[in-house]
Amino acid sequence: MSGPFELAPLPWDESVLEPAISARTIGFHYHKHHRTYVDTLNTLVKDTAYADMPLERVVQATVNAKDGSDEKNIFNNAAQVWNHDFYWRSLTPRSGKPPQKLAQAIERDFGSPDKLLEKLAASGKEQFGSGWVWLTSQGGKLGVEKTANAIDPMAKRINCLLTLDVWEHAYYLDYQNERPKYLEAALRKLVNWTFAAENFEREAHAVRAAAE
Ligand code: MN
Repeated sequence: MSGPFELAPLPWDESVLEPAISARTIGFHYHKHHRTYVDTLNTLVKDTAYADMPLERVVQATVNAKDGSDEKNIFNNAAQVWNHDFYWRSLTPRSGKPPQKLAQAIERDFGSPDKLLEKLAASGKEQFGSGWVWLTSQGGKLGVEKTANAIDPMAKRINCLLTLDVWEHAYYLDYQNERPKYLEAALRKLVNWTFAAENFEREAHAVRAAAE
């Protein structure tokens, strides 16, 4: 099935996140789950105005669709494509530390990077059923959010810095039902602080541009 939306390549080799996340998990997650969202979205948008929109616009235009409607189905698949693209880029084997500007904001809004990671882990654990946990910024202020199913803060035009997938398919092969163990390993070893800092900067640029 070809269509306007594409399965973006992974930013790294499938085994680089081991042992925190196995190549087997990434393989199923990317080639089966993520690909299915892309293929389903392409089928759903065929001959609709959504076929000509950037992915972000599709998500934002369908976020308030009624449950059970065709538009809701488009929202769910479009958001899941965007969420997975964002998730892969949120992870790296070269985690390191938050760059200075972001580190200062983390210090100000959470107390320390450890406190932020604890908050992300707690929110990911608390999310009942499938969903996502996010680091966001609004007007430069950082926040942690959890969302259900396909929902993401971007749909409501909130700037996203990082995400972790807490659907069972993200961790079941490696940790079975133990979501907190997956969150702990991913947050301690794989957070892409460079990506988070770029996203934080992007909002700062947008705010400055709007003020000029
Ligand atoms: Mn997933």
